[in-house]
Amino acid sequence: MKKTVITLATGALLAGLAFAGSAFAQDYPTKPITVVVPFSAGGPTDTVARLVAEVMSKDLGQQVVVQNVGGAGGTLGAGQVATAPNDGYTLLLHHIGMSTAPTLYRSLPYDPTKDFAPIGLITSVPMTLVARKDFEPTTLAELMDYIKANGENVTYAHAGIGSASQLCGMLLMDALDTQMTTVPYQGAGPAMTDIIGGQIDMICDQSTNTTSQIKAGEVKAYGVTTPERLANLPDLPTTKEGGLDLEIGVWHGLYAPAGTDAAIITKLETALQAALADETVISRFAELGTVPVTADQATPAALAETLTSQIALWKGVIEKAGVYAD
Ligand code: ASP
Repeated sequence: MKKTVITLATGALLAGLAFAGSAFAQDYPTKPITVVVPFSAGGPTDTVARLVAEVMSKDLGQQVVVQNVGGAGGTLGAGQVATAPNDGYTLLLHHIGMSTAPTLYRSLPYDPTKDFAPIGLITSVPMTLVARKDFEPTTLAELMDYIKANGENVTYAHAGIGSASQLCGMLLMDALDTQMTTVPYQGAGPAMTDIIGGQIDMICDQSTNTTSQIKAGEVKAYGVTTPERLANLPDLPTTKEGGLDLEIGVWHGLYAPAGTDAAIITKLETALQAALADETVISRFAELGTVPVTADQATPAALAETLTSQIALWKGVIEKAGVYAD
């Protein structure tokens, strides 16, 4: 008898909590939402986040504020969101690094598949090989010869272990069977500033960060890492055309901390889809050489599937390269 009373009381308590949770989700959002970008301001991930956040703000009726938490190849910012309250007010916009970190980092303080609730894929962005404008080689063939001949005398910038620029550099060195001197930054934004300033030789980075600099003649461009040329940079050959076996595209996803109410995730998913269908976002993405995903990909299921398959894919590549961080 006593036991039954306790069970009923517990049931009532749980029902009350569930009601409070759904009422909370119904009103959501009632205050600004923070989207953590785990790289510096002014870089390619930041660019994608700011474009998308602006339209999501309109859809959600609350400000969506981008916060840059750079460092350790994106793992600092991701770790911060993994332990944030799961109330829908702290989100993470991260790229391919979400899938490489579990293999690259021996002591990663979070599990990308368990500590986050996926909201949706956002876009996939090509990578481009660029260098300071007075760098000696002018074609991709010359660049490959130059790197092979000069090895560690060539300085290569990247945004930390697990960043897209680091992965691309790792694939480049693997393809050329040589080593360059790698210089880590908290994001590709500041790395680009140093390439334009001539302090660093080169980087492989997303077209969202390099297109304007290439068009303005601020950097020398050698190739794009996609199977086809880009509509916004039609004169830039693909790496394959230039005889370099290097293909990599960067995808982005939006996440909440694990355990976030399903109704909140649905509201965020809808707002994300609205942002990706927005004419201004589409045309700005096109100028930067990137295509937003279709609505059926901007979903929790599609992001969860991509994350799982990319973790498996990169595990093989990273173990082969033998590059790890502590
Ligand atoms: N996209 C850069 C990278 O992974 C980081 C950034 O967005 O700043 O190399």
